[in-house]
Amino acid sequence: MSHHNSDHGHHDSGGSGPGGEVTVRSVSARNPKVRTVELRAKPMGLERAFLPAIVRGLTTTAKRFFENTFTRAQIETIEYPEERPDYPARFRGLHRLMTRDDGSVRCVACMMCPTACPAHCITIHPGERTDSHEKFPVIFEIDELRCVACGLCVEACPCDAIRMDTSTHMHPVDFRGDAILGKVDLMKRGTLSTANQGGEKGNWRATDGGEGSRGPESNVPAGPR
Ligand code: SF4
Ligand code: SF4
Repeated sequence: MSHHNSDHGHHDSGGSGPGGEVTVRSVSARNPKVRTVELRAKPMGLERAFLPAIVRGLTTTAKRFFENTFTRAQIETIEYPEERPDYPARFRGLHRLMTRDDGSVRCVACMMCPTACPAHCITIHPGERTDSHEKFPVIFEIDELRCVACGLCVEACPCDAIRMDTSTHMHPVDFRGDAILGKVDLMKRGTLSTANQGGEKGNWRATDGGEGSRGPESNVPAGPR
């Protein structure tokens, strides 16, 4: 043991690091790199009261406060809704139900959208139309708080009855039930769609202005976003 101590005598006196004095108490006979050391921390002095750290923290806070008050240079947020960011062209806004020439809902209650919806937030109760062989939704509800804005309902719809192109966010609600939009709410944003109804004349996606276009009737209704 004494042999090792003499070999590594410089360790015995230890060394000093940022944390304080290091004293080697023992060295392993099998592996000299394995040592037992004692760390004697430096007296902390003023650091003990955390005063320098508090002053540094308050200085950073005050600096940011004045920077953001007078220049807004460090502020990433915007004053919504007065200030609005540019949304991507494919942003999915609040749903709307499209209408036919006579103003009635285009939806034929085919149940494709509630089937595709991963959030199970669409409820449809179908009824029979009297003017044609088609069905229509007696009840059409979307729970906008459960919706994950995936757009699958729009993709699933065979007749351009539902869209998510309003660029409108769901408005805040005071009561849970108010987050469930009904057929009337959804049709308020709806406009006439001239896409082929009921599968006549082939696929409306192919005949309605080509890829990525739904024709002039697809314009977002006027009003606040
Ligand atoms: S956007 Fe997605 S989650 Fe929302 S109603 Fe449509 S299918 Fe359901
Ligand atoms: S997929 Fe279209 S037509 Fe079918 S129920 Fe949904 S909105 Fe109505």
